[in-house]
Amino acid sequence: MAAGRVAIVGGGIAGLAAAYRLRQADAGLELTLIEAASRLGGKILTERQDGLVIEAGPDSFLASKPAAAALCEVLGLGDRLVGTTRESGGTYILRAGRLEPLPEGITLLVPTKVRPLLRSRLLTLRGKLRLLTEVFRAPRQDEGDESVASFVRRRFGREAYERLAQPLLSGIYAGDAEQLSLLATFPRLRESELRYGSLIRGMLAQRRAAPPPPVASRTPTSGFLSLRGGLGELIDALVASLDGINWRLGTPAAAVERVDGGGYLIHLADGTAVAADAVLLATPAWATAELVADLDAELADLLRSIPYVSTATISLAYRRSDVAQIGAGRGFVIPHIENRELTAVTWASSKFPDRAPDDLVLLRGFVGRAGREQAVDLPDDQLRALVTGELRDILGLRAEPVLVRIYRWPRALPQYVLGHLDRLAAIDRRLELHHGLLLLGAAYRGVGIPDCIVAGERAAARALAYLSGAPASAPLQPPTAPAPAPSAHRGGSGL
Ligand SMILES: Cc1cc2nc3c(=O)[nH]c(=O)nc-3n(C[C@H](O)[C@H](O)[C@H](O)COP(=O)(O)OP(=O)(O)OC[C@H]3O[C@@H](n4cnc5c(N)ncnc54)[C@H](O)[C@@H]3O)c2cc1C
Repeated sequence: MAAGRVAIVGGGIAGLAAAYRLRQADAGLELTLIEAASRLGGKILTERQDGLVIEAGPDSFLASKPAAAALCEVLGLGDRLVGTTRESGGTYILRAGRLEPLPEGITLLVPTKVRPLLRSRLLTLRGKLRLLTEVFRAPRQDEGDESVASFVRRRFGREAYERLAQPLLSGIYAGDAEQLSLLATFPRLRESELRYGSLIRGMLAQRRAAPPPPVASRTPTSGFLSLRGGLGELIDALVASLDGINWRLGTPAAAVERVDGGGYLIHLADGTAVAADAVLLATPAWATAELVADLDAELADLLRSIPYVSTATISLAYRRSDVAQIGAGRGFVIPHIENRELTAVTWASSKFPDRAPDDLVLLRGFVGRAGREQAVDLPDDQLRALVTGELRDILGLRAEPVLVRIYRWPRALPQYVLGHLDRLAAIDRRLELHHGLLLLGAAYRGVGIPDCIVAGERAAARALAYLSGAPASAPLQPPTAPAPAPSAHRGGSGL
């Protein structure tokens, strides 16, 4: 086993998953975790009040990426996993001020059922025909990247992009699809185009192939999973399992310095320093840039060039009797062309069980997206008025909420814009100069919780290999493979 000192900066899910894997692999490691906030979990934050389970950030993870459910299982949370409730119904999309159901059978933006699509009022007949004739459209042959918007328009037409794909995408990245890199966000869609000649044909072929077995027989069968008491249970279980860690909470790291003769010194804002042989920076790219600025200015510039979007979630509890007549399934997404501040709304208490007492319903709205982030900074009373006003317009919801909680997430969602993969390759080349320094987290190869867990586990494995004397030339970063399909879904089809 490798002996040594490892310091992790950032106690979000990526940093904690790395700490867990390091601790499991080697009980003798000297582990320090430095976190700026006074609590752990980063974007994962569950609050409980008056019988409500309120998710401030993520509320679920994609089941098709097994890392998160698997981690819950090993932490003894298998029995706590819950899938979306059957009663919750489907997802709606706002179209010309009215909520229309998302046609059944749309998976990862690709339609697999003709009849629900033909019946839908979301698209004109012309738009539907353009979408369905995707099966006859020749694939693009050159190898370059393109924006997600250009890809979807090319395959399915402008209408399908504006009215279907764009709002679903916005629910994932809060991003501008005209800027997002197809290869960094949806590489599987491009692979499918090349392999099957059509995304519809590709999706149908994959459907016919046997589905992957569930992580464990007890894991609920649902596209999206959560924990009965909210995702905060995962953070609590991780922290409880981490013995003998030197926790430095409420103390931001300020700079990473290389020490002559090997190892690093991490300077903290309170004037102290932590010495380590390997350092894992599990912080947002903009924060990581400041940490490495003196060590490697070029690396810092690369990190600074990863754009971020600010977002906010507003949870509102209503008396059930006040909203009884309002039916909007599991929630709805709002296309940019509808010109609203809200981008998505979830009926949180219908989506997962036990989120609210019987006499209350819990609703959650999202504001803030690329190019339209101003609302995130509004004072609480104005933001509340804005959201309740839009809910009144869209749902006819006039009742006053009995509880409102607002959570702002400044510079929270990294945007994998065109050039992201080249930037990752350049970052990897810089890191080859800094043995034992690893970067991980949502900024790089997947924004969803399962991706961040995989990033933490890989970084832990590489740190261990480094400490046990793997050749210096061995790359410390995961290979620059295209990012997996996204699994963050702040309000997309995973509503
Ligand atoms: C509103 C919202 C909803 C989302 N919904 C979903 C969802 O439903 N499903 C899903 O899979 N994903 C979702 N995501 C995405 C997902 O939550 C994040 O991508 C993921 O949690 C990021 O984890 P991380 O460990 O990389 O970073 P973070 O959680 O951001 O953790 C980084 C940590 O580093 C700390 N830090 C920063 N600077 C310093 C410093 N100088 N010194 C020490 N510590 C520092 C921060 O305080 C933070 O705790 C959502 C994100 C948001 C914002």
